[in-house]
Amino acid sequence: MENKAKKPLELYIHVPFCVKKCDYCDFLSGPAGKERQAEYFQALQREVASVPDFPDREITTVFIGGGTPSVPDPALIGAVLDQIRNKFFMAPDAEITIEANPGTLYKEKLEDYLEHGVNRLSLGLQSPQNRELKILGRIHTWEEFLESFSLAREAGFSNINIDLMSAIPDQTYEGWEKNLRTVAALGPEHISAYSLIVEEGTPFWERDLKLPDEDTEYRMYEDTAAILGEYGFHQYEISNYAKKGLECRHNKGYWQRTDYLGLGLGASSLVDHIRFSNTDNMEEYIKNSGQPEKIRCDMERLGEADEMAEFMFLGLRMTEGVSMDVFEEYFGKKIESIYGDVLEKYLSIGMLEKKESRIYLTRKGIHVSNGIMADFLL
Ligand code: SF4
Repeated sequence: MENKAKKPLELYIHVPFCVKKCDYCDFLSGPAGKERQAEYFQALQREVASVPDFPDREITTVFIGGGTPSVPDPALIGAVLDQIRNKFFMAPDAEITIEANPGTLYKEKLEDYLEHGVNRLSLGLQSPQNRELKILGRIHTWEEFLESFSLAREAGFSNINIDLMSAIPDQTYEGWEKNLRTVAALGPEHISAYSLIVEEGTPFWERDLKLPDEDTEYRMYEDTAAILGEYGFHQYEISNYAKKGLECRHNKGYWQRTDYLGLGLGASSLVDHIRFSNTDNMEEYIKNSGQPEKIRCDMERLGEADEMAEFMFLGLRMTEGVSMDVFEEYFGKKIESIYGDVLEKYLSIGMLEKKESRIYLTRKGIHVSNGIMADFLL
């Protein structure tokens, strides 16, 4: 089959290990010994070996997330990447991202990633202030981050994301602005700026935290785009900012509903209109990963109404919004015939805007995006 005819497929690989659990984190991750890590990667390779090779697809992005994928031996990561390259048709310009934490990187590890085709590094910093890093229960200091960042640059990484967190306990507006400027001035290609969400079941949930009030949080969010704009970043999604042409292709694909296959513990997938997740039980995963049908749960075939709703609420996360033409092309129906009333409502109160057959959230709309998106559920 002609390469051109291949449909894109994105891969997500979950690495559920961390040095220690951060105090706010409810992700599927935690510390584990070397033996458990090796066992997990063997299971992961069994899963890769047993999924179909999708001959009519090309892998456009691979995202190795976690957890902290930079915790295990890089040889384990390299072996999975080699296996993927041998099994699937990988687009020559595929974006391959690995998430990493400062304090877990050294020169040879970074070189190893590059040798295995990793071309994007996502560094979990959260804050350039040691006081805030301590509050969050992070394992690293700002100085360790700086060292990791320059090691990555020296090794040859030219596409680096830095994760930052706002609304940290005791954080002021001025503190957040300083954090943004400090990190933007380093010149990464991409910044993800999320606000802290206190999740049930985490140590933060039990604590009496002094969080910034609503107005402060509003200003923090509202001004982030303008501040980062001064350093050459543009906002392309609710929480993501990039230099021109360096948006995260993997995440953009997700918001545009490109099919993705999740590999590893708890990883979710959307392939050929079917959504499913792998088990989040480690023992079960390790035992059955060679028989994917045994580890997959919550399998759901999406109906047209689900797909339309997803098209809208994922697409509206991006500042470019949704294309009315693509909607019509995909569903064979005009967007107004399905969502006429909802669109009318939000366009008339200035929460949505329409330009050149695209519909997107206004600044005002972004602040109440959850409520708006819920209205697109049919
Ligand atoms: S490093 Fe990331 S995944 Fe690991 S515990 Fe901290 S926030 Fe969670």
